[in-house]
Amino acid sequence: MTEPSTVTVDSLPVYKAGEVPEHLRTATQLKADRLKPAESQQPVALLSMYRRGHGWGKFPLYDPAQAAPMRPISAKQQQAMTARRTCPECRQICAYVVYQRCEDCRQRAQQEAQHRQARTCHRCRRESGARLPTDVHGWWACEYCRIYYATREQAESERLAAFNRTCLAHDCTTQIATDEEIAAARGAGTWRGPWRCPPCTQRWQAADGRQADSDQDAA
Ligand SMILES: [Zn+2]
Ligand SMILES: [Zn+2]
Ligand SMILES: [Zn+2]
Repeated sequence: MTEPSTVTVDSLPVYKAGEVPEHLRTATQLKADRLKPAESQQPVALLSMYRRGHGWGKFPLYDPAQAAPMRPISAKQQQAMTARRTCPECRQICAYVVYQRCEDCRQRAQQEAQHRQARTCHRCRRESGARLPTDVHGWWACEYCRIYYATREQAESERLAAFNRTCLAHDCTTQIATDEEIAAARGAGTWRGPWRCPPCTQRWQAADGRQADSDQDAA
């Protein structure tokens, strides 16, 4: 038997969910066994638990040996009660009222959803028969998408590297920096993007000067 927690309320031991001595029952659990607290029956302990929508609460726990039987129910009532406790998915009759699906089915569905996610390609959403490996981003992806996107990302990063290495001027292909120099500048926090090669800089400044001259002429 579990030792009661040191907490007591009105000199009753207070148990947390999962620590309740096996023989004790809440009023709801008694009812499930067609029992009810007898006329003068007092709770022997309290159950402290959290209920969604209600918050923390303390529920009396009774000794079923002292409880009184409930009025016998009709066959029709019995049928209705069984129906409420039957899982619509697996048809299992549970010890509790089943909403939508039983706890077993809920867990199974949750697991299936997780497995399905690991079988579904994050890119093309196609489902495969087996668990997929993950790509460099940690996403489950089919072989086709892994190769396709890795190639595309490789090409994209190569295109960007080439843009950074090359003179900023349109149509000029002069290399102005190496990947190593760019990486070093990035590391030092001094990288400001590509610039113009010396001949292009000269041409640009000359064009800018002519523009300035013609602006002055116009003025
Ligand atoms: Zn079920
Ligand atoms: Zn795919
Ligand atoms: Zn240039």
